[in-house]
Amino acid sequence: MTNINFDVIKIGFVFGGLVFFLILELIVPYRENSISKIRRWMNNLTLGIINIIFYQVVVASLLVTTAFFVTKENIGLLNLVEMPTWLKIIDTIVFMDLMFYFLHILIHRIPLLWRFHRVHHTDLDVDVSTAMRFHLVEIVFRSLAGISMIYFIGADPLGVFIFECVFLLSFLFQHSGIRLPRQIENLYWILFVPPAMHRIHHSVDLEERNTNFGAIFSIWDRIFGTLLTGVNQDQIWMGVDGHIQEKKLEIYHLLWMPFTPAVK
Ligand SMILES: [Zn+2]
Repeated sequence: MTNINFDVIKIGFVFGGLVFFLILELIVPYRENSISKIRRWMNNLTLGIINIIFYQVVVASLLVTTAFFVTKENIGLLNLVEMPTWLKIIDTIVFMDLMFYFLHILIHRIPLLWRFHRVHHTDLDVDVSTAMRFHLVEIVFRSLAGISMIYFIGADPLGVFIFECVFLLSFLFQHSGIRLPRQIENLYWILFVPPAMHRIHHSVDLEERNTNFGAIFSIWDRIFGTLLTGVNQDQIWMGVDGHIQEKKLEIYHLLWMPFTPAVK
């Protein structure tokens, strides 16, 4: 159990997932691209590479260290009672996903955090590369929140690693622009987040955007009343109103965007 092996597996999931879903997008695209896929991929992957380097160099070891520390010192909710390791791993994944669901809502509600998250939402098409499109500052505050969550729930170290991998794959899948058989997507939707669910969250329509916040499980949106279904997928207009000009969405615009006038 060395960190190097875990890091290699995680990086493998990221790039393997990107390539896998890209191939599916090319074979069974959800719809035609409204703008150049190559230009969007260049912007999104540039942000993605910056984020992955920061995450691997700074964040990954902090998450592991925190999880080992709370386990050794018996800190956090899950360490209050005796339970088998497998149950602690499942609890870690479920609780972490629940807290990231609430964090996502806060990111949309708190204007300062939305300034950074809107970089992600300004993508005019949504495909697997959109999952990489985050401002570095958002990765910083998501990471700080993740470390606090691990401390609060007393997360299991292996549980944290499995959560990271499942979260990554779910995140890549829900952004991917692939056309899936409706019945399979609806079946998956009962428990998890398929592309059709997350596509609604990327709508320019504020009432649609303020729904479907889940990352791994769709049950949180069901329980807390933020689930939206039944939207005509073919008519969803992606992006953020006020950021609809492609030529103003190049990489330097995206990096500077949080410091420009607020847009809802
Ligand atoms: Zn969002």
